[in-house]
Amino acid sequence: MPTGLNRFIPNRCVLCKLTTNNKISLCNCCANDLEYFDYRQFDNLLLRPDIRQGIKKPRFDSLISLAPYQWPFNQWITDLKFREQHQLGELMARQLLRLVQNLLQASTDSSPDVILPMPIHRNRRFTRGYNQSKLIAEVLAKPLNIILDTQSLTRVKSTSAQSGLNKTDRQSNVKQAFAYQGPAYRHVAVIDDVITTGATLNEVCRVLKEKGIERISVWTICAVPLQKKEQKNRQKKKMGNRRD
Ligand SMILES: [Zn+2]
Repeated sequence: MPTGLNRFIPNRCVLCKLTTNNKISLCNCCANDLEYFDYRQFDNLLLRPDIRQGIKKPRFDSLISLAPYQWPFNQWITDLKFREQHQLGELMARQLLRLVQNLLQASTDSSPDVILPMPIHRNRRFTRGYNQSKLIAEVLAKPLNIILDTQSLTRVKSTSAQSGLNKTDRQSNVKQAFAYQGPAYRHVAVIDDVITTGATLNEVCRVLKEKGIERISVWTICAVPLQKKEQKNRQKKKMGNRRD
């Protein structure tokens, strides 16, 4: 996180190491070279087939994500989670902020009433020392003028990491893992670092909707689009099933 002092020191770009006057440590050249999701057609990634087909029965209403889960974002997320690289979290969160601001401005829809970061279990909070989703949520909340609620949604079950598990195992791994004790907000935005199969986010949304929350937007740094080939296979399988 920036302190009063380093505000006066020019940033170095995390990729090319050249100095940059940007607020984030990424120069325009490198920033423009990276691949981001394109929102010219859709303002909700759930409308994109390569995203929608990878998420089993989403219980949330919309998804905004900054970039596909690939270099350098996958590396930055790992560094944020496991190597205390908070400045990388801030860098990605600021990019996500700009995207969300633009999409909310262009939308006729109302903004969420509150931002809820994906919680981590207190054991993991103790060993890691921080919750990376909360760091991202903190960058978003104030400029968007949306309340940040870090208390109401909690992780009550310590689960093993989702990576390496298949879709079914991911679902059972996170079952009953969350609790919500807070106001019945109408519209919430849940913040997470990355959405893969959506099993964890779906379980959170099940709990939130059970408590009367009507609408859920999910905002993440990364999402995992299905590869073209995998998409084709799924379509073929679907067609095959129809013929049976
Ligand atoms: Zn650069």
